[in-house]
Amino acid sequence: MAQAAAQADKSPVVSITGLHKSFGELEVLKGISFSAREGEVVSLIGSSGSGKSTLLRCINMLEVPDRGTVMIDGEEIALRGAGSRRHIADEGQIRRIRSELGMVFQSFNLWAHMTILENVMEAPLIVQRRQRAEVEQQALETLDKVGIRDKAGSYPNQLSGGQQQRAAIARALCINPRVMLFDEPTSALDPELQVEVLRVIKVLADEGRTMILVTHDMDFARSISDRVIFLHQGLIEEEGAPEEVFGATKSARLKQFLNASHHP
Ligand code: ADP
Ligand code: MG
Repeated sequence: MAQAAAQADKSPVVSITGLHKSFGELEVLKGISFSAREGEVVSLIGSSGSGKSTLLRCINMLEVPDRGTVMIDGEEIALRGAGSRRHIADEGQIRRIRSELGMVFQSFNLWAHMTILENVMEAPLIVQRRQRAEVEQQALETLDKVGIRDKAGSYPNQLSGGQQQRAAIARALCINPRVMLFDEPTSALDPELQVEVLRVIKVLADEGRTMILVTHDMDFARSISDRVIFLHQGLIEEEGAPEEVFGATKSARLKQFLNASHHP
């Protein structure tokens, strides 16, 4: 109980309030609020086009929301202007905050002309200006952790998709992020390669990392999440612990979505 109270007192690592986002006439996010506490794994699920990626991209301001706020570790990201003209107010702040967010996309986005080790070391050296020897040691340890240390000297096109995605995870980890953001990290992979990536993400969850994960894999969301959020037409339609959301589903739309996902 004492521990739960202490946990509740902490300010969340990520806190989103009243997020709205439109692309032209299309209103994608219609008022989204949620937070992720230290060590929490939050999964975002919902049908294609429901705004999951847009929501995740608003957390690091790859998309600037029209309304609403994003706070990282209690610090609000400063925005200026209104509606579609809203923009980042402080480039220095966003650079600093982005360097605390480890983002892993569906496509791996590794630099083709750099080795895997160079890819992983790039941001710690250039953005964070850390010492090369220390960064290299952490990079090799992290590659070891994701099971591809033997690929350190290889180029991305010499790796399988699953290995490339594990390299992308290692790269995100090496900035020592406050939170890891995953957008459908396995959806570009063949099923047998998905397993190795999911296993790595599970290890990170078990270590107590704070993570927000968009996934189409309901079994994985169920096994890994502390909390699951179902997005539907720009709003949170249902939210709760996995056993509630999957085991005692309330929303008819979520029931329909879950039935459809089991029979692709
Ligand atoms: P999801 O990740 O849940 O599939 P997205 O967030 O990618 O959904 O997209 C939600 C809706 O917003 C979709 O209709 C998509 O076409 C649209 N959309 C996303 N990004 C843009 C953009 N940059 N410009 C215009 N429309 C966009
Ligand atoms: Mg998406």
